[in-house]
Amino acid sequence: MKKRAVVTGITGQDGAYLAELLLAKGYVVYGAYRRTSSVNFWRIEELGIQHHPDLHLVEYDLTDLGSSLTLMKEAAPDEVYNLAAQSFVAASFNQPDATAQITGMGALHLLEAIRLTNPQIRFYQASTSEMFGKVQAIPQVEDTPFYPRSPYGVSKLFAHWMTINYRESYGIFGCSGILFNHESPLRGREFVTRKITDSVAKIKLGKLDVLELGNLGAQRDWGYAKEYVEGMWRMLQAKEADSFVLATNRTETVRQFVNMAFKAAGYEVRFEGAEQDEVGINNKTGETLIRVNPRFYRPAEVDLLIGNPARAKEKLGWEPKTTLEQLCAMMVEADLRRNAEGHSF
Ligand code: NDP
Repeated sequence: MKKRAVVTGITGQDGAYLAELLLAKGYVVYGAYRRTSSVNFWRIEELGIQHHPDLHLVEYDLTDLGSSLTLMKEAAPDEVYNLAAQSFVAASFNQPDATAQITGMGALHLLEAIRLTNPQIRFYQASTSEMFGKVQAIPQVEDTPFYPRSPYGVSKLFAHWMTINYRESYGIFGCSGILFNHESPLRGREFVTRKITDSVAKIKLGKLDVLELGNLGAQRDWGYAKEYVEGMWRMLQAKEADSFVLATNRTETVRQFVNMAFKAAGYEVRFEGAEQDEVGINNKTGETLIRVNPRFYRPAEVDLLIGNPARAKEKLGWEPKTTLEQLCAMMVEADLRRNAEGHSF
């Protein structure tokens, strides 16, 4: 009998990679997506799995408890991976209510549906390093106190504790993966790394003059999404349900990532000025390539994220392999190709 899995957020970066991984492992996958006037399957198309016979695409909305109950009944899964969310931190400041409903309550809907239909189902919750926010220790581990700094972080923390509560209250095998930032060529263009690699490609091809960014000094721990979805799967195969940090234990500034991306496209960039007046200059031509725009600053910033994945290494045998330089080069290369071919995603 093939194992059955539900993946919410199949149209997102992680959903696409996880579906690819599960299909390769012989699972039947129910990929849940929300109905929109023009559904966007470009990621699963890029991975070539859209028409896989074991991939069933099903309509589903996280904000609707009935939708979660129907999904559990129809898919009858062994494992549920909750990757759907309003996942963009900046948007959560403008839409705090919607973010709480989708990102927070949505997870509870799934947990309730599992409790009511089949408590044997294993559940993965996509938690985030944004829950650490104003960090209370460096590096951050599973037991570091949380201090979220955005409606997104607060909503995720609710879902995180609900997962633990359903584990302790009802014995549901619920794992919370506290994942630090993970990127790939499938990352949405609104996220800073992809915005950078896409803009670098556009500048290189003469389609854009200047890249505008917010806080260049923000420090993040960036890994490769494809490796992180493997960690999610390993969590649900473990003997005991637990919370696990997945991270690289290396932190870099946005400025350093910008440098890396321009370097991968053959540029040398130097930075001048401070804070909101800082600019990035093309060393050869003297042209301004990067400018700070305060519009992109968050109302409350998360300054320094760096995670130690020691527990995941010890208990799951998981560790990151791809370096940030390799990841950045991979993203720039994909964006150069897409922009040259005129793709809009
Ligand atoms: P994406 O933003 O790429 O994907 C989010 C997915 O959620 C999309 O498929 C989106 O659908 C779906 N979604 C949004 N609202 C609803 C809804 N109401 N009902 C059903 N589906 C909905 O995120 P990632 O793939 O990057 O991340 C996966 C998960 O991991 C998210 O929960 C994210 O918050 C979390 N996470 C991500 C990190 C990262 O660095 N990538 C770090 C830590 C945690 P649509 O395409 O229609 O918008």
